[in-house]
Amino acid sequence: MTVRVRIAPSPTGNLHIGTARTAVFNWLFARRYGGTFILRIEDTDLERSRPEFTQNILDGLSWLGLNWDEGPFFQSQRSELYRQYLQLLLDKGLAYRAYETPAELEELRSSQKANHQAPRYDNRHRSLTPEQRSAYEAEGRQCVIRFIIDDLREITWNDGVRGQIAWKGQDLGGDMVIARAAPANEIGLPLYNFVVVVDDIAMNISHVIRGEDHIGNTPKQILLYEALGAIVPQFAHTPLILNSSGAKLSKRDGVTSISDFQLMGYVSGAMANYMSLLGWSPPEPMTEQFSLADAATHFSFDRVNRSGAKFDWDKLNWLNSHYLHKLSITQLTDLLIPIWEEAGYEFHRVNERQWLEQLTALLSSSLVRLTDGVDLARPFLAKELEYNESAVAQLRQPQGINSLKYVISQLPDAPLTLEMAQALIQQVVQVQGLKKGLVMKTMRAALTGELQGPDLLESWLLLNQRKVDLKRLEQALMI
Ligand code: GLU
Repeated sequence: MTVRVRIAPSPTGNLHIGTARTAVFNWLFARRYGGTFILRIEDTDLERSRPEFTQNILDGLSWLGLNWDEGPFFQSQRSELYRQYLQLLLDKGLAYRAYETPAELEELRSSQKANHQAPRYDNRHRSLTPEQRSAYEAEGRQCVIRFIIDDLREITWNDGVRGQIAWKGQDLGGDMVIARAAPANEIGLPLYNFVVVVDDIAMNISHVIRGEDHIGNTPKQILLYEALGAIVPQFAHTPLILNSSGAKLSKRDGVTSISDFQLMGYVSGAMANYMSLLGWSPPEPMTEQFSLADAATHFSFDRVNRSGAKFDWDKLNWLNSHYLHKLSITQLTDLLIPIWEEAGYEFHRVNERQWLEQLTALLSSSLVRLTDGVDLARPFLAKELEYNESAVAQLRQPQGINSLKYVISQLPDAPLTLEMAQALIQQVVQVQGLKKGLVMKTMRAALTGELQGPDLLESWLLLNQRKVDLKRLEQALMI
């Protein structure tokens, strides 16, 4: 089997998670069968398409590891091809020019509505005489190009995900507009269903894998394949991604684009892994944690669900922390540094590299998303320490204050070691007869402004290396 598949995003917005998930399935299928994965940018909607969205789509696909073998092809650069195919359909008598005005079409719709009929074009200009045509043209009317749809046809296909599907020609809304209105001697802008078919034919696409919101387009496209004398590809319509209340995931759910997830601190491996699970379940003995390359060796449509795939933040977070914990400290530090810089923390990337890696090592087990690193690193990297309420309360206890004064008086000038820090705490406990817990809690409040956090002694050592511990202990006396 020669597999040639494509992802065909429209650059009218950033790379959407639904499109990215469809890209994942196409990529997995192509890699499984040693096929070709093609990227086609569907930018025929000139008003809404933007180069920055195209860039966002290319960056997002690359970030996810979905390398394409051909393209990107841009529909805006292929208009000559579409024009030729439109002309071909006109010449064969399979499409025609229709001259209705918007007002006439509106009137048709209103009368259908009044009669409780579904809106459809009544094919009124399908068989105009040359005289009628000339008369409309003499009036200066513009015309669209309509493709003839036989109401009596039944269109069926065996969908890779949904099995046998059948549509009646009469349910397709009448002869379909395939090119927008233009003066009678010109050909208007070709429309989605038509250009997709022309491109899929020209690019020898063997399998069209796309979201199930396109199912209604498929019967129309099959008729176009037939009219153009081309082999109809296999179709597989993947389930929609749903939010927690079962509705289609949309902008209202907050993040929907891949770059949003990236900004939220998800790593590409986790995102690609998670998206593969949105609708596909890996066969035994695979677990739910896998790379795209692993998934590609097992991917098939018989394990793709028909029903919608619920977006599950807990599972994504679980996978993300798993991926983060698998990274080396060096890799993790590389990923955290730009996030810390973005948060406004000041440090020297090169001179303080070793210290930054120690900080990463201290925080790494608490990370679920990379951006958690901002809050976790605040006590270590922010210029001014903020104290939360419980830390303030802790620092106002007289016994605590005494323990801090003692530590300040005994703090050596030389860099602190773990042993020295332990001994110092032990000393306070003994000399002042305090509970160790109280001393530790007070030290944590003074050094970090919080009562919770990573290992206290390790934290202290890091602050000592940056020479801020003494200042913080003294500052805590004035809270
Ligand atoms: N451009 C269409 C979209 O973004 C995809 C069309 C297709 O896959 O056939 O939904």
